[in-house]
Amino acid sequence: MKNTVDPERLMRPHLHKLVPYSSARHEFTGAANVMLDANEHPGPSPAGGALNHYPDPGQHAVKASLAAITGRSANDIFIGNGSDEAIDLLVRIFCSPGVDAIITCPPTYGMYGVCAAAHDVDELRIPLRPDFSLDVPAILRAADSRTKLLFLCSPNNPTGNCLPLEQLLELAENFPGMVVVDEAYAEFASAESALNWAKDQPNVVVLRTLSKAWGSAGLRVGMAYAVPRVIALFNLLKPPYNVGAPAQEAALRTLADPAKTTAHIALSNAERERLRVALSAMPGTTVFPSDANFLLVRFPRAGALFGNLQQQGIVVRDRSKEPGCKDCLRITIGTPAENDLLLQAIRNLPA
Ligand SMILES: *Cc1c(COP(=O)(O)O)cnc(C)c1O
Repeated sequence: MKNTVDPERLMRPHLHKLVPYSSARHEFTGAANVMLDANEHPGPSPAGGALNHYPDPGQHAVKASLAAITGRSANDIFIGNGSDEAIDLLVRIFCSPGVDAIITCPPTYGMYGVCAAAHDVDELRIPLRPDFSLDVPAILRAADSRTKLLFLCSPNNPTGNCLPLEQLLELAENFPGMVVVDEAYAEFASAESALNWAKDQPNVVVLRTLSKAWGSAGLRVGMAYAVPRVIALFNLLKPPYNVGAPAQEAALRTLADPAKTTAHIALSNAERERLRVALSAMPGTTVFPSDANFLLVRFPRAGALFGNLQQQGIVVRDRSKEPGCKDCLRITIGTPAENDLLLQAIRNLPA
């Protein structure tokens, strides 16, 4: 049975009256010799190429490429200045400041809570269980008419585990608001993505990014996949030219070569396994299972190790203050040479 949540009714009420900004390029999309409609420089741009022109506000070419890769329709896709822009827009679409709330399941990605706080929206935290699994009954007990968004992350950052599909389906069916599944690391996982089953779930938004497996964090290109009705709400609020022309062109080049990404995923996952075995063999460490391009590791003296690694020129992420992550460092899988340096540096730690 499908959830009967109606995204338009969850939306902040005043947005029903909003008339979105219509740019010159929204109003004219054909070809013409003389374009005097957008107050652009006639060119050439000192920055080169056709950069005197505004970019495509609808990112049509990138969406066509993503549609071919994912099997979702181009109308199901929002492209943002990183998926961080999609997270921010979700809060701005659905949550009234001082009234509504989001639900997060810490330890998880910090941007959900930061975006909510920036908009004076409460964050209800329903922690993961000690084994980093979701507490579905507690989430559903906390849900009410104020909790417009539930942020789930699979594989979860920083714990690395995938959330089981059955639980995601149960929440998608029973949560009375929008369910956001952040799949920033899904390409590294063997578990089934939400992209396919969420196709006709009006209350599910799946986030993806070119920043991780696709190797293009510098572009700032992230995606939200949802039914066209929900994508229309993103388009209502997004800045018209939110993805620059160089980023759109580089995104197309990135997506045109999926074999590179597939090869990177294979190497990263093999290195993750090599690091897992080596770190597990060190006395007192616990390496948590990971489906992503990082490992969460509990060390006997995490604070000292963190500082010592930094002195040796190796920066990892200290997650020891996060709930359930006492003494834990999050280590990104690097190149084989970088991973060797990391292992060597840990072995150098004075006993
Ligand atoms: C890295 C990461 C992102 C990516 O954000 P971008 O803005 O697309 O770079 C999103 N969600 C999670 C959980 C992440 O770890």
